[in-house]
Amino acid sequence: MADEKLQRLEIVTPERKVYTEDVRMVVLPGSEGEFGVLPDHAALVSALKIGVIRVHNEGKVTKIAVSGGFVEVRDSKVTVLANSAERQDQIDVERATAARERAEQRLSAQGSDIDMIRAEAALKRAINRIKAAS
Ligand code: ATP
Repeated sequence: MADEKLQRLEIVTPERKVYTEDVRMVVLPGSEGEFGVLPDHAALVSALKIGVIRVHNEGKVTKIAVSGGFVEVRDSKVTVLANSAERQDQIDVERATAARERAEQRLSAQGSDIDMIRAEAALKRAINRIKAAS
């Protein structure tokens, strides 16, 4: 609706600005669970896990894959600092599928604990991208 109050959403990574729009509602993958933010939300800072950010605006939902990071909410501004983030239309599904297969192969082979932790994180990122793209 035209008279609904909006809030500014900014998503940045070390590499680029992924998203800057005035939006109605943002649902975020918080480290303690998903939560929604509407304009005039109380100030907060939260860690984010690998997951999908859902932006609700003018009856549409935009999905953005995020690979962990932090969110700050203050004065009707939502700022996400992400390790990496891609909008649904930026996700290369073939690349994510190849990354998932590589990670699965590493996990089925015997390696060091560090390799296993890295492979598990890579697998989670790949599955999350495939989910966000669908
Ligand atoms: P890969 O093994 O395919 O590089 P990764 O999970 O190791 O995947 P990241 O380190 O999380 O990749 O990201 C590196 C850069 O590549 C970031 O800019 C990220 O947005 C981008 N990226 C990674 N995978 C994809 C993908 N499937 N589609 C689009 N961009 C991607």
